Amino acid sequence: MYNRIYNFAAGPSMLPLPVLEQAKEDLLNYKGSGMSVMEMSHRSKVYAAIISEAESLMHEVMGIPDDYKVLFLQGGASLQFAMVPMNLMKTGKADYVVTGNFSGKAYKEAAKYGTANLAATTKEENFTRIPRQDELKLDSSADYVHICYNNTIFGTKWYYTPETGSVPLVADMSSCILSEPTDVTKFGLIYAGAQKNLAPAGLTVVIIRKDLIREDLPAFVPSMCSYALMAKNDSMYNTPPCWPIYMCKLGLEWIRSVGGTEALQARNIKKAKLLYDYLDASKLFKNPVSPESRSLMNVTFRAEDDEINARFVQESTAAGLSNLKGHRLVGGMRASIYNAMPYEGVEALVSFMEKFEKNV
Ligand SMILES: *Cc1c(COP(=O)(O)O)cnc(C)c1O
Repeated sequence: MYNRIYNFAAGPSMLPLPVLEQAKEDLLNYKGSGMSVMEMSHRSKVYAAIISEAESLMHEVMGIPDDYKVLFLQGGASLQFAMVPMNLMKTGKADYVVTGNFSGKAYKEAAKYGTANLAATTKEENFTRIPRQDELKLDSSADYVHICYNNTIFGTKWYYTPETGSVPLVADMSSCILSEPTDVTKFGLIYAGAQKNLAPAGLTVVIIRKDLIREDLPAFVPSMCSYALMAKNDSMYNTPPCWPIYMCKLGLEWIRSVGGTEALQARNIKKAKLLYDYLDASKLFKNPVSPESRSLMNVTFRAEDDEINARFVQESTAAGLSNLKGHRLVGGMRASIYNAMPYEGVEALVSFMEKFEKNV
């Protein structure tokens, strides 16, 4: 009806069609307000209802207990690489598990504010797997342990939540938030740039256990980087990203309508299995990731010959399967199959790959 293509972009990425349709319906006149959500004051009653509904839906859909605060911030996941150490480094040291590009950036950024200890890395193995618990060199007196739960570029995910004792666990869930049920109580802080699995770009969601919110921050910390100030003002210390928060609310309503994170997990496993099963049987394409660490959201693959990879990207794009070119750090191809990607999209991709392989 709309001539939409299957968009495999890593982020910004596909949004669920019902979300876009609702946004379209609301666009010119939101619920009789006579204006769009993009035009209204963030201090208005009608907008206050939107942001508070978004916050309570986060609690409901993700199962976030009341001793956690949900914050709607800006600056992307990348600003959290700095905000986490600025706010949580009390004694000045933290453990970092580096499993890819973004966790590496977080680790580097943290070193500006204190001692960032490399608790484990799989760099020597090209980040093709997640370290086991017994490989993590954790310091029991660290202020927190930082991990990246799903590695968007290298296509790996954690299948266990590391045991960190009384040290709070901090997780970057930018590319996997709400893709499966999460036991939030195992984390001190979770953050996610919204543009992969939640909403349009411009919004970062932070879920922080309330006892970790500190007021006594070093003087250099900008007001805008204080979780305490943001929490005290219910994410309205300044103008919040009004439109992405509204879109996030629609996205959460959609997740609820399709059966919540359990239903999405089942769908995501089914989608990823279709693709990995094909790759494992393929003579042309390979996925380099260890089977026990394979991401359900970002699936990388490549042929040995880079000319074939380039041809694949070109021909798949022409066939309405877009943005399959891999990240430059990995090369080859990457299919990002977030919550909004329907099973039919993965089916279309696999059948295209089968045809391509036959004709190579
Ligand atoms: C995309 C991504 C980031 C960077 O997000 P920005 O919002 O662009 O800052 C960080 N971490 C992960 C896991 C990502 O996928």
